[in-house]
Amino acid sequence: MKKETTIVSAGRGKEYTHGIVNPPVYRASTCIFDTYAEMQERNADPYQKHLYYGRKGTPTHWALSDALMALEGEKAAGCLLFPSGLAAMTSAILSQVKAGDHVLITDSAYDPTRYFSQTLLKDSGVEAEYYDPMIGGNIVDLLRENTACIIVEAPGSLTFEVQDVPAIVRAAKDHKATVIMDNTWATALNYQAFEYGVDVVVHAATKYIVGHSDVMIGAALANEACLPALRSYAMATGQTCSADDAYLALRGLRTMSVRLKQHEENALAVAQWLAAHPAVDRVLHPALPDCPGHEIWKRDFSGSTGLFSFVMKDGSLDHAAALVDDLHHYKMGFSWGGYESLILPTDPRSYRKKSKFQANGPTFRLHIGLEDPEDLITDLSAGIDRYLVAIKG
Ligand SMILES: *Cc1c(COP(=O)(O)O)cnc(C)c1O
Repeated sequence: MKKETTIVSAGRGKEYTHGIVNPPVYRASTCIFDTYAEMQERNADPYQKHLYYGRKGTPTHWALSDALMALEGEKAAGCLLFPSGLAAMTSAILSQVKAGDHVLITDSAYDPTRYFSQTLLKDSGVEAEYYDPMIGGNIVDLLRENTACIIVEAPGSLTFEVQDVPAIVRAAKDHKATVIMDNTWATALNYQAFEYGVDVVVHAATKYIVGHSDVMIGAALANEACLPALRSYAMATGQTCSADDAYLALRGLRTMSVRLKQHEENALAVAQWLAAHPAVDRVLHPALPDCPGHEIWKRDFSGSTGLFSFVMKDGSLDHAAALVDDLHHYKMGFSWGGYESLILPTDPRSYRKKSKFQANGPTFRLHIGLEDPEDLITDLSAGIDRYLVAIKG
């Protein structure tokens, strides 16, 4: 079955929907039992899809988890939902490590994941070491006796290096280290992480799965080997999300394949226009040759999405306001993955630890929404003209 079909049909079992198209929103804290025997039976296996207590999920949550699992293929043994993408990521990591362990984290990782590894993870007695996102199989040189997991993100946040995940997985397997991947950018539609040997896959569902910028929610999926620890961690720390949010994520998911195709097409139009602009140094879009790891993207990914960056030849963030302040169609904001376009001025040089980000001018990250790409280009073109006037002083 093609992914476009799976996304429409998965998670729509009658036990969830009772014969209507979508599952109802089961708002629940207390679940009630008629008899003591029933209570015991439903508690026999806390991970069964039994109504037991609100925190352990409802049919609305299970419909979403089932649908997300179906998109990942056979190797996904379970899916846990979290109140945000970051909670899913940090829980995935904490579930796979213990005090005294060492973890390797890509230097291109999402900034709050970096913050977590430098604070809470460190305080828990786990040493986090950054590595060059383009390291590939050479990661073997960084593996230690106590390396418990390797964190990958492809492409990287802000800078879009496409990692050679299969090469990293090969090195990890020999050392019995777990590979955890943040797959938010590509989604399961464009990157089948489990097929490339990843053990735990994290999605900030807040982004493309929800798709409308109105819900915070995360998902972590694990293979058979890693699922028990992930489940146990989520249960012990009380991880859950509201049924309303699970419902909205499931509704968003149903249209994700058509939305992503349009995000991809629009983003490529804007990226190609930027790549030909004389004031732009380079465009960091996995589908364009200037992006580190472009060849790996071609080899492993089945498409691109709406998020990428471009680097200006000259000037600095001091003049970023000239470019962004008067844009009509791009607002500034964190997060992305909704239907609307966004822009974010940034300087990736400032935080890298194990790899250099070369840039003369500032970097702008774009999320290209579902607006008409010609309108987006006209708007951006005027912004770049204002910026060029500003840097001449
Ligand atoms: C946004 C994002 C997250 C975190 O998701 P939230 O739902 O905002 O907590 C994690 N990873 C990546 C790559 C993201 O872009």
